Amino acid sequence: MTREEESGVAGERTMLAERFHAADHSITLEHIPVPQPGPGEVLLKVAYCGICHSDLSLISGAFPPRADVVTQGHEVAGWIEQIGPGVHGWEIGTAVIPSAGRPCMECRNCRRGNFSDCMNLRLMAFDFDGGWAEYVVASATGLTRVPEGVPMDQAALLADAVSTPFAAVVRTAQVHLGNAVGVWGLGGVGTHILQLARLAGGVPLIAFDVDDAALERAKRLGADHAFRSDDPDLFSRVVEATGGRMIDVAFDAVGIPAVSEQAVRLLDVNGKLVTVGMSDKDLKIGTFADLALQRKQILGHLGYKVQDIAMLTELVAHGRLDLSESVSAVVPLAEIERGIRMLEQREGNPVRILVQP
Ligand SMILES: [Zn+2]
Ligand SMILES: [Zn+2]
Repeated sequence: MTREEESGVAGERTMLAERFHAADHSITLEHIPVPQPGPGEVLLKVAYCGICHSDLSLISGAFPPRADVVTQGHEVAGWIEQIGPGVHGWEIGTAVIPSAGRPCMECRNCRRGNFSDCMNLRLMAFDFDGGWAEYVVASATGLTRVPEGVPMDQAALLADAVSTPFAAVVRTAQVHLGNAVGVWGLGGVGTHILQLARLAGGVPLIAFDVDDAALERAKRLGADHAFRSDDPDLFSRVVEATGGRMIDVAFDAVGIPAVSEQAVRLLDVNGKLVTVGMSDKDLKIGTFADLALQRKQILGHLGYKVQDIAMLTELVAHGRLDLSESVSAVVPLAEIERGIRMLEQREGNPVRILVQP
């Protein structure tokens, strides 16, 4: 038993949690009181929680802190441990995935019932405590039940790591049967975009990366072609791969000017570039004339709707979407710093590394 546990208030349960401190951008492992669910909330016992690039961005300072001290981790799967006042329709012990976003219920979009476009969305692991802990409090309205046949480690991927790609493919890009699809950056986000674009009927599917191992994995998971983006003959390779019609939908999961410029150049007339993920770099897309003459479109994408997670659980449960290659490693919560380092250094070329409390 640690000192913190001994000094805790008599009878108060404590738990192990990772804590990010905005003052010096340090992280610590601490024993803190198990939180209590308030009205409309549930307490979850965390089964697994993913380590996401946006968690790293908070530590590095690329993403500005939104709380002085916060427990990180926003890709959770767990079991309902305790039910707060006013919550109906949920039972203790049910396996669930919480949504990471909490709408403010006050802005003009929330007042119209358009919660996914909330203008002051509060985010788990940034505004309030997340899942790199033994327990986490979640809003009951954002819960998705994990059906039979979906392992809890894969369920944790569905909050963000797979649902953001799902919404990018289905909602923002609206990939259709027969669309030629290009994906740049075959890490955690790009790999899932590729798998979902295949389900949506994209053909041919072309993967672009500078990492040969990532390209090999993309081919295993359904890419028809996998090209190094630094290949000087890239344009003619795409001409050949698409029979000259070029790319209908390009996804940029990298976020650097060289990628957006290359992707736009390889688009067909009326083609779309969809950028997925955060980057503070400038977007380069070529000339106004090219954009106008070719009627090309540039679309930004962020996030997902709660019902996207439910659709993904169905796809996994029915064997349509195989995420078995997506759990690259599992590290115990006590070794969270090792997990963060593995993702930072792309050790073993991970899709997702999970934390297990
Ligand atoms: Zn994430
Ligand atoms: Zn709002």
